[in-house]
Amino acid sequence: MRLVDAHNHLGYWSPDGTQSVGELLLEAEKRGLHGVGISDHYDPDCEMSDGSPWTFDPKAYMEAFYSKRRMPSKRQEGDPPGFLVGIELGWMPEVSDVLHNIVREYPFDFSIVSLHYFRSYDPFTHAEHIYTSKLHKVYTEVIHAIADSAQDMKEANIVAHFDFFSRYAPQRDSKMHYEHAPEAFDRLFKIMMENNQALEINVGTVNSLMKRKDYALKDAMPDEKILDRYIELGGDLFTICSDAHHVEQNGLHMNETLQYLESLGITEFVWFEERELKRPL
Ligand SMILES: [Zn+2]
Ligand SMILES: [Zn+2]
Repeated sequence: MRLVDAHNHLGYWSPDGTQSVGELLLEAEKRGLHGVGISDHYDPDCEMSDGSPWTFDPKAYMEAFYSKRRMPSKRQEGDPPGFLVGIELGWMPEVSDVLHNIVREYPFDFSIVSLHYFRSYDPFTHAEHIYTSKLHKVYTEVIHAIADSAQDMKEANIVAHFDFFSRYAPQRDSKMHYEHAPEAFDRLFKIMMENNQALEINVGTVNSLMKRKDYALKDAMPDEKILDRYIELGGDLFTICSDAHHVEQNGLHMNETLQYLESLGITEFVWFEERELKRPL
């Protein structure tokens, strides 16, 4: 299978990352990937508890990595995996202009739109301000906010981790299901289809549910009904990523997740290079 794992973070460029680009590329090679991508955090208005910003200097990023790019679509037998330069945009309505500008001004291969904050709170540090009602209500609002982000950031290629907020809910059984927010999911998927945005399967959520909530691996997999509904509405752009911040997270539980997706008929994973959609065949 030609797989491009495009959503990963690096030390220095993301405040919560530790791996180096050399480590990431070595892991990609060991895993037999067709390509790998970096997409460091760009969350204006957010900061770590120590005050360090969730942004990086895009000019310096381009200087560091642009010349190292290798297009997966041009890869020949025996070549190392492709290498793409992307960005993970932390969307909030207030920073929309900043995000539009950065994508316009710098030649990222792809951009990923992510909702990390809700009601201006970080679910990791301020869960009490987010999970204030039953899960179906919170998840409905969250998925609508992700739909807003996809609609606003039309130029973004990938909609990240729809299930991110299930990682930090106080409930033990916090996995996100289609039934939690059917109308919101339908709205999100329709917007994504209009914009040709890919649906990301984030194996980081699988790992987080296992680690934080004690889910068994098979129970931590993304809800079948969410994926079925996306396909039913006409969606066929899937991506899968490690969202690795540390070297040991590369490919963690990826093979089991791929097997699970295959059982649902999901076998093709797309990527974007120079902002163009690429399919593996
Ligand atoms: Zn993210
Ligand atoms: Zn990420």
